[in-house]
Amino acid sequence: MIIARTIAEVRAAVAALRQEGRCIGLVPTMGALHAGHLSLVRAAKAQCSGVVASIFVNPTQFAPGEDFEKYPRTFEADCKLLEAEGVDVLFAPSVEEMYLEGATTFVAVAGIEDRLDGASRPGHFRGVATVVAKLFNIVEPNHAFFGQKDAAQVAILRRMVRDLNFNVELVVCPTVREPDGLAMSSRNRYLSPEQRQSALVLNRALHRVEAKVAAGVIDAQPLIDAGLAVLAEEPEIRLDYFRIVDPDTLEDVPDVSAGALVAVAAFVGPARLIDNAVIPKRLEAGGGKLEAVD
Ligand code: AMP
Repeated sequence: MIIARTIAEVRAAVAALRQEGRCIGLVPTMGALHAGHLSLVRAAKAQCSGVVASIFVNPTQFAPGEDFEKYPRTFEADCKLLEAEGVDVLFAPSVEEMYLEGATTFVAVAGIEDRLDGASRPGHFRGVATVVAKLFNIVEPNHAFFGQKDAAQVAILRRMVRDLNFNVELVVCPTVREPDGLAMSSRNRYLSPEQRQSALVLNRALHRVEAKVAAGVIDAQPLIDAGLAVLAEEPEIRLDYFRIVDPDTLEDVPDVSAGALVAVAAFVGPARLIDNAVIPKRLEAGGGKLEAVD
């Protein structure tokens, strides 16, 4: 695995792969890798003959006072994991390499960027869109792999790729969970054993909504109420949002009949955690009624 620290180095490494006729898959990460990240790498390996992963803790997507300084950095272990997965090139630039002194150009995905996490983390999605646009320009991948775990990020990036004509296909991979249902996250490292137990309530709340939908409930408000009731059972968490939205625009929907994203974010101790469930579009009105759930 080639470890490229500069833009020139990664461009040269990618050019060599292209010379061999390889199709390039990009997996952007902030490191502190876990099985969720590695699932993206495996999807990239399955679809692309050349795989580039990036590790960059991107300062522009952290709001002031957030965990940029404390964000876990486990570079040596990450390298071993990526190498074992057969990654061809790891791009791990410094902040100075990615953001030249005096950089003032940013990508704003107007409207969407202020919804969900964007509402509580001002500037977050502007930072995400900007760094991903830069990675696309630097690596010029054919495919880029992202996790459904960050569903709002997916909506932002889909819109950016469409609006700015990036010549890349986004591939969205399912959320990887711990055996007890907790969505894997680099920030789970912040949790004490007790907090980790409390964090399970996020997934339980999503399950409750899915069960209600399976039982025939389609209006958003009773579904939200059902999820909030589960979240209220866990006093150790501080809820940020629990919403049912259109997966593309992230706007609230009145019902889930056309398909919807159920998204939750909460602080558990020092960690801000997110999770979501996708409600598929209903095939026919009145269909899919199962027995009632509480
Ligand atoms: P991050 O390092 O947190 O910026 O995440 C890098 C990529 O990994 C993003 O596309 C995330 O959506 C994805 N990812 C993070 N956690 C998971 C997970 N549990 N399952 C699937 N993908 C994930």
